[in-house]
Amino acid sequence: MSSSTVITNIATLVTNDPSLGDTSPLGLIRDAAVVIDGDRVAWTGESRKAPATDNRVDAAGRTVLPGFVDSHSHLVFAGDRTEEFNARMSGRGYTAGGIRTTVAATRAASDAELGRTLTRYLGEALRQGTTTMETKSGYGLTAADEARALRLAAAHTDEVTYLGAHIVAPEFADDPAAYVALVTGEMLDACAPHARWIDVFCEKGAFDGDQARAVLTAGRAKGLHPRIHANQLSHGPGVQLAVELDAASADHCTHLTDADVDALAHSRTVATLLPGAEFSTRAEWPDARRLLDAGVTVALSTDCNPGSSFTSSVPFCIALAVRDMCMTPDEAVWSATAGGAAALRRTDIGRLTPGAYADLTLLDAPSHVHLAYRPGVPLVSGVWRRGERVV
Ligand SMILES: [Zn+2]
Repeated sequence: MSSSTVITNIATLVTNDPSLGDTSPLGLIRDAAVVIDGDRVAWTGESRKAPATDNRVDAAGRTVLPGFVDSHSHLVFAGDRTEEFNARMSGRGYTAGGIRTTVAATRAASDAELGRTLTRYLGEALRQGTTTMETKSGYGLTAADEARALRLAAAHTDEVTYLGAHIVAPEFADDPAAYVALVTGEMLDACAPHARWIDVFCEKGAFDGDQARAVLTAGRAKGLHPRIHANQLSHGPGVQLAVELDAASADHCTHLTDADVDALAHSRTVATLLPGAEFSTRAEWPDARRLLDAGVTVALSTDCNPGSSFTSSVPFCIALAVRDMCMTPDEAVWSATAGGAAALRRTDIGRLTPGAYADLTLLDAPSHVHLAYRPGVPLVSGVWRRGERVV
């Protein structure tokens, strides 16, 4: 028998269901309660109408929102890139090549070492309110090393992405076509059983449009769903390819033409913005306002990785999105919860509605706006995952 718990006295409850709350996209309910039964949300509404339950938690006038859905991270790695960051902050530009440093360290690491790193950063994210985290391979770049990364990731999350096409492996520097053949052949066969998604870094210095199409279509033929690193450092074919292949998400979307924005707006491909990357590389911000005004579904994620965005903090990304990408606090909170769920094509997370997973974050603040209003402050004071209090 599962036990039920009511969290009462919530000053602001973010449900992300307009039909439950104030009709805004966040579906806000004031003086609210939420009932958890087993691993699911059983009821949300006004505190005074809450049904009887086995247990009771007093939120004492704080905010409850869905656990963050971080739909883009790279957590299977070894080593760090402190020196590269330090050099970049001293004036040198970022190119895709720095990934090779992490590839060498990751190949040399033991399973146990990679597992400890993964657990550390997933734990760090959980303490900051992230209850679902997608993570990718991409620092192995051999069939065995990529499959190992995915196997390790799959022990911790259902949202595992095969990114053999992160960069061309150093051994294939003179023959990228042979590397694409490996990624779409033997490596794919080794990796497909451990992953849900396939991804490719479509960028100058990584993979061009034809190579990216070959990678994603090969993955799709093996039952993986496409997502893509697109238009991060320059204009390119990535976003159009994402829409053409019905990718769940086009990630980065920093350099877009009007046609790219229009294509996204008329598709179900989510634009996932990763402001930690622009912050950590002092790059131009993606124009979130332009995407939102065109009607594009926008997700916000950390891109947590040791090279270009070494943050596991969704609240930090929300603050950046509001301050520097002209998103409203409501839009940023929606994008980091329901938007992330949309980028993973999930309807059972990212919202607090009856039947959804009971993944909740309790903020030590009267409103979700404080996530942007109080940047850098550890406001997360409780986290429930699958109905269990874990923080
Ligand atoms: Zn990435």
